[in-house]
Amino acid sequence: MTTAPVDVDTARRDYAALVERGLSLDITRGKPSPRQLDLSADLLTLPRGEYKAEDGTDTRNYGGLKGLTELRRIFADALQVPVDQLLAAGNSSLELMHDTVVQALLSTLPGGERRWADEPRVAMLCPVPGYDRHFALAERFGIELIQVPMTDEGPDMDVVERLAAEDAGIKGIWCVPKYSNPTGVTFSDEVARRLAAMPTAAPDFRIFWDNAYAVHHLTETEAEIADLLTLCAEAGNADRVFVFGSTSKITLAGSGVGFFGSSAANIAWWSGVLAKRTIGPDKVNQLRHAMFLKDADGVRAHMRKHAEIIAPKFAAVDRILTEELGDSGLATWNRPTGGYFISLTVPEGTAKEVVRLAKEAGVALTPAGATHPYGDDPKDATIRIAPTFPDLAEVEEAVRALVVCVRLAVAQNA
Ligand code: PMP
Repeated sequence: MTTAPVDVDTARRDYAALVERGLSLDITRGKPSPRQLDLSADLLTLPRGEYKAEDGTDTRNYGGLKGLTELRRIFADALQVPVDQLLAAGNSSLELMHDTVVQALLSTLPGGERRWADEPRVAMLCPVPGYDRHFALAERFGIELIQVPMTDEGPDMDVVERLAAEDAGIKGIWCVPKYSNPTGVTFSDEVARRLAAMPTAAPDFRIFWDNAYAVHHLTETEAEIADLLTLCAEAGNADRVFVFGSTSKITLAGSGVGFFGSSAANIAWWSGVLAKRTIGPDKVNQLRHAMFLKDADGVRAHMRKHAEIIAPKFAAVDRILTEELGDSGLATWNRPTGGYFISLTVPEGTAKEVVRLAKEAGVALTPAGATHPYGDDPKDATIRIAPTFPDLAEVEEAVRALVVCVRLAVAQNA
């Protein structure tokens, strides 16, 4: 990007005035705000003495490894997984992704020749910028993380296809296909088709399809993605995809329900290892979720209420960045139509300094680099903005402060 010169003295003065204000703001993590959590207040009183599932199961008791059918039915369409192949589990999809990686290390996957732990090398493709927790959990198990650039329709498939075809150590790819964290990108049908059909050197290659923002629209236009499970089956790679999702940012972030969907063979594999891990999920939580959300239309209506609360915060970030940096060439950013994040790109070599300056001025930002494997953004240019948790006035204040920090970091770097 071509940047307009920033006057260092002005930038320093503005920054000093900012520090003087002694702010204490936090736009680090994509958490729902208390007002959003209040939308699910009824969950705190449900299931109101009820404990029977629709098939008569006593939800208070052990058992029911697949989770309650009525809840799986509500989410089957949104997650594009047939009810029979969709499991409702504990309170977190990240936990399911973690366990899936661990189980793949310890138990040979359908189509695999050996456990990942017995491979000389295990690597995963990481579209960047991406979700830091995906990268951290794979890194924790010694999995090598290989960066792949994101385009505005998903990962750069020329790179993905080439690497997956030539390197048998590459066992998978992390994907957030709708309203990606943090770029807001929704994968095109063409990207999904190529992911489903591409030859892979590893016979047990898996796409970790983390559809965390499946119903999290910010506008009337609801992004749609291709049905990857079906595309994989049609391409003769039925077992290639693991689908994840959760109600964390629909109902209660800490007390929601996580989902896992896949081919019949993968579900059989997963259920086998799962049976050693638990006697069954928290079905009382699942029952109250089914009672509260009722059906897919209930989810849609509920998500509109979330959008009413958070869309103005996203709009405020965009408005302030446009007013303050719009023509300066100092930054670019995305205007997501869903999800939880905005990705701000600043001139190369300045993101860390922006985050440091903001911290000194009392504004906490996600560490620069967190959007890349090993916390290393080679260009040092990406900053993730998470505007959902603070109230609107705080978001506005934090973004104005951020602008001051961008100007100073660039001026110092000139
Ligand atoms: N996946 C993505 C892409 C996320 O952004 C998040 C939350 N920030 C999660 C998963 C975590 O999901 P859960 O609460 O279901 O563990």
